[in-house]
Amino acid sequence: MRYLTMKKIVIVGGGAGGLELATQLGNKLGKKNRAEVILVDKNPSHLWKPLLHEIATGVLDDQMDEVNYLAHGKRNHFKFKQGALLDIDRENKKIKVAGVKNPAGEEIFPATELSYDVLVMAIGSTSNDFGTPGVKDHCILLDDQVQAKRLRQIMLDTFFKFSASPETTKSDKINIAIVGGGATGIELTSELFTMAEKLKSYGFDKISPKTLNVTLIEAADRIIPVLSEKLSQSIKEQLEEFGAKVLTKTMITKADHDGFYPKEGDVIKADIMIWAAGVKAPDFLKDIAGLETSRSNQLVVKSTLQTTRDDDIFVIGDCASSPKPAGGFTPPTAQAAHQMASICAKNVMAHLNELPLSNFKYKDKGTIISLAHTAQGSVTTVGSSSMIVRGTPAHMIYRMLYRMHQAALYGNIKTGRLMMAGRVYRSVRPTLRLN
Ligand SMILES: Cc1cc2nc3c(=O)[nH]c(=O)nc-3n(C[C@H](O)[C@H](O)[C@H](O)COP(=O)(O)OP(=O)(O)OC[C@H]3O[C@@H](n4cnc5c(N)ncnc54)[C@H](O)[C@@H]3O)c2cc1C
Repeated sequence: MRYLTMKKIVIVGGGAGGLELATQLGNKLGKKNRAEVILVDKNPSHLWKPLLHEIATGVLDDQMDEVNYLAHGKRNHFKFKQGALLDIDRENKKIKVAGVKNPAGEEIFPATELSYDVLVMAIGSTSNDFGTPGVKDHCILLDDQVQAKRLRQIMLDTFFKFSASPETTKSDKINIAIVGGGATGIELTSELFTMAEKLKSYGFDKISPKTLNVTLIEAADRIIPVLSEKLSQSIKEQLEEFGAKVLTKTMITKADHDGFYPKEGDVIKADIMIWAAGVKAPDFLKDIAGLETSRSNQLVVKSTLQTTRDDDIFVIGDCASSPKPAGGFTPPTAQAAHQMASICAKNVMAHLNELPLSNFKYKDKGTIISLAHTAQGSVTTVGSSSMIVRGTPAHMIYRMLYRMHQAALYGNIKTGRLMMAGRVYRSVRPTLRLN
């Protein structure tokens, strides 16, 4: 590879795709002073998003899995700037980054501008309430670590109050309703029963999986439609075995403090309401810098992952609308973000060297759903290749995608060490995070 004059590569968003990309470019270019690599994220640390439902139910302790951007950047030769992206000035090749305040409202970092030669957008997605009235005010979302930790606290408070109240009787239930029968809704539903069982083992006698009245609500005619009908039915039956109610063909038209209102039928009452449906890129992308966007606010990219209207701007992960050669679009998954990060690293270097760029081709390695339930001591994992795997092998397959992410950040040897450290940590920490 030719030596580059010192160019500035700015990556916005240090998630499943962006952090892997910053790590690769930092080690390939930043280390040898061939380019300055800067990662921008609104948060100070990264937590891999597919872990959020486990963080929310306290089954996983986030402290072990959080990656501090500053420390990781120092080790991997990229710089980190905390702040939320506000706008892109394509003419002057600059981005505007918001200031950062502490919880007391004092400004810690002022708003700033950063110039770039190449910009990579990797700011992910959020759930989509499709404008349903009441969702913003009454529902908890599971889009980032702050929301996951908030959900955990709300659930623990509800469980503790229920348990401590002298008025609670054996027939009383905690009503939880989740909208969205995709992977997030399904995995969260199953983990709730694990959470209740673990709380019981800590001496909260009034709490058990039977205390929970969990309703999973889906507008389509079956849950997880990306899988075959047979697998979708098998997951539904498994959730019902845990004790959940699964409602399909149920379109929610409104939410208020009592619960969810379906288009037909009575209100679905809920003490805790979670919205885990739909995917869209953040709203502010819609009209950003005259770039082409899709109906769900994603930035439209060419097969090289460059935006259709600006070759100096690349997009990866959930915020990219990347058409597949055979039709359809690359799905918003961690698997896709991981694959895009690798091609994007090569293409950014090729672009700076004025060499030909590679085309991104998404390889679907299957959908993995984890249905954890400690009562049965089992984890059931389902792949889109009509395969059902149970027990320890299933758990290993489920964790593999995360291990690939860790390997991209730390390399294989350190990932092995982290796995061992995790085992030791889990052997001494409580099996449920209780604060
Ligand atoms: C609960 C849950 C479970 C999931 N399970 C799976 C699974 O099992 N398998 C799978 O393949 N996928 C799964 N997904 C989807 C997967 O997490 C995403 O597809 C993946 O994380 C997308 O990666 P990304 O890099 O595009 O964005 P993200 O990983 O979401 O990262 C985006 C980053 O951008 C930052 N950011 C956002 N806005 C701004 C801004 N304005 N300025 C600066 N920074 C910003 C965020 O802080 C974040 O660090 C799951 C998602 C959820 C919510």
